[in-house]
Amino acid sequence: MEYQFGGPLGALGVTVGTPFIAYALYFVCNENGCPSQSFLSSPLQTLAEQWPGLGGIYSHQVFGYYCAWYFGLAALQFVLPGKTQQGVVLKDKSRLLYKLNVLETSLLVLSYLSFMTFKEGLTWSFWSWMWNNYIQLLTATLVFAFLLACYVYSASFFTGELLADHGNTGNPLYDWFIGRPLNPRIGMLDLKEFSELRPGMILWPILNFTFLAHQYSSSGRITDSMILVNVFQFWYVIDSFINEPAVLTTMDITTDGFGFMLSFGDLCWVPFVYSLQARYLAMYPVDLGFLGIAGVLAVQGFGYWIFRGANGQKNKFRTNPNDPSLRHLKYLETKSGSKLLITGWWGVARHINYLGDWIMAWAWCLPTGFGTPITYFYVVYFAVLLIHRDRRDEAKCMAKYGADWDRYTKAVPSRILPWVY
Ligand code: NDP
Repeated sequence: MEYQFGGPLGALGVTVGTPFIAYALYFVCNENGCPSQSFLSSPLQTLAEQWPGLGGIYSHQVFGYYCAWYFGLAALQFVLPGKTQQGVVLKDKSRLLYKLNVLETSLLVLSYLSFMTFKEGLTWSFWSWMWNNYIQLLTATLVFAFLLACYVYSASFFTGELLADHGNTGNPLYDWFIGRPLNPRIGMLDLKEFSELRPGMILWPILNFTFLAHQYSSSGRITDSMILVNVFQFWYVIDSFINEPAVLTTMDITTDGFGFMLSFGDLCWVPFVYSLQARYLAMYPVDLGFLGIAGVLAVQGFGYWIFRGANGQKNKFRTNPNDPSLRHLKYLETKSGSKLLITGWWGVARHINYLGDWIMAWAWCLPTGFGTPITYFYVVYFAVLLIHRDRRDEAKCMAKYGADWDRYTKAVPSRILPWVY
């Protein structure tokens, strides 16, 4: 079986490297500077001096709260209303049922926090608690993601559940990382779909708002840049909640196993690394002014137009191909039975949706100004993720469509950036 991510060594590198980056972003970009002068002159010594020890980054109490958050959200999935939908046909011809109510769940949680903030003000102790326990919370998500990956890996040997095609190599480290089980479940709780959209994705705007509240309590004002970053990312999150059914057809759900890569990415990396811009602005306010706001809005609008247009078009094409809005589009018939669009968004580049997402990434970083390159980490990281993801998806499509995929790549030669890449 072919390894991905550089095999066991690559899996080890990502397992150690990504938590290291998450912590480094905190220790390198904080109230002392972003980065501080002392870090620039002697990085290792500064990091060693700042390191608060294990007791400073981990707390049993915070871990307990995080467990309550994870399982509380799981309980809400069952209690709150929501429609039940079938996932894609699996290789054993079965289809799993998913209860879709992340929008209802998030609105309930966020309404409660909004109500309390309205009542108590931006200086409500919850927000300062979140700020003060940031690093303990990060560690709690890391520990939880680690334990979750161990649990689903071990359980997959006993449950007789479906295994992921690439997650059953026999190398324990690699399989644990990439994900051995395809759709691990505890009863009706689908751990992968649940983790993908709920604990981390709902935490992300909560962290952003923590930073907004901190900016207010430390400087007495809220900058336009902080509002834009909060609004853009809040909208991105809510947009994915509104489109929850679309997650059932993504590579993460249909193809990838559930292991440390996804559990860490979903629970820790997304909320803590993606909120870096707002955390920076909490400490270093930036005023954009009218022209700055207009420029950033234009970048965001352009990216969103491509992102939503392309994702919406494909989703409609896969779920309701007779929709009148698709009548003008041309497609290839393939031996697999699935059709491939060759005009419209998917005729411009094979992953034009990634380009839209990446352009939005710029709109999230530009509000931090040009005082430090660190807040542009997301743009660089996301480019690497999308290029790598494009390669993985192409390999999957090549295996599924064979010669028909070659015909498609001739009709649509660009991968992500038209005429360039
Ligand atoms: P995509 O939405 O890009 O879907 C890829 C699949 O679409 C292929 O496997 C194939 O599946 C189908 N497809 C490919 N070409 C065509 C075509 N011409 N016509 C019809 N169907 C086609 O999958 P992703 O899950 O990678 O991305 C979804 C969104 O999520 C993207 O916008 C991406 O930017 C975003 N994303 C964001 C991340 C983040 O961290 N913020 C991380 C990952 C993704 P098949 O033919 O089998 O149906």
